[in-house]
Amino acid sequence: MPNIADNLKHIHHQIQQITKNVGRNSDEITLLAVSKGQPAEAIQKAYEQGQRHFGENYLQEALEKQLQLSDLTNITWHFIGPLQSNKTRKVAENFDWVHSVDRIKVAERLNRLRNGHPTPLNVCLQVNINNEESKSGLLVKEAGEVAHAVAKLPNLKLRGLMAIPKKNQSDSEQRASFKAVAQLLSKLKNGSPQLATLDTLSMGMSADLEAAIAEGATIVRVGTAIFGPRL
Ligand SMILES: *Cc1c(COP(=O)(O)O)cnc(C)c1O
Repeated sequence: MPNIADNLKHIHHQIQQITKNVGRNSDEITLLAVSKGQPAEAIQKAYEQGQRHFGENYLQEALEKQLQLSDLTNITWHFIGPLQSNKTRKVAENFDWVHSVDRIKVAERLNRLRNGHPTPLNVCLQVNINNEESKSGLLVKEAGEVAHAVAKLPNLKLRGLMAIPKKNQSDSEQRASFKAVAQLLSKLKNGSPQLATLDTLSMGMSADLEAAIAEGATIVRVGTAIFGPRL
């Protein structure tokens, strides 16, 4: 197994360096450890190093690991994968965050199924920032309407935006994509009092951390740089 403790140290150090270089405070960044395709033991190892936020893409896999790890207290579970309607119940019941909401209908289902839970479900809207044809996520022009609808749902707490920019972009293209997400968040916040409390930009993965943090990421989603290659 790769050395998860060393990898985590290295990433925390990297985040320190990057935030320092761009004049941000490293406290503003939450490291989300993306554990899809990794065994429960890998999550346990990261937990022992103090890691508490974990991200999963596949519901069945996630539920199995949550069950195996149910003794670990204070884990915050994030669902970051594509979300079909038939998965909304289990996601609403077993996660603290969902980063991949891109339809009002799915948000309404999550809201209904979260009813009775002690805390609202934290939600980010996934934005298809490079207008890629096969990619999930809202178009920029749809974001305002969906954000307003989601912000009204009482069992959801709309936190901000998530994006996965196009693969294989140059550094400057990456920066431009992340900047566009950040600008969209500002526009939503400034455009409407109901959206003024949005505080989250979920962007940046193992390969593009630096550009994402430079453009304002508050949650970085890191998988392979912590856990090594997936199964
Ligand atoms: C898998 C995945 C990640 C992590 O990617 P790495 O390149 O392994 O860091 C982040 N975000 C999403 C949405 C993912 O599906």
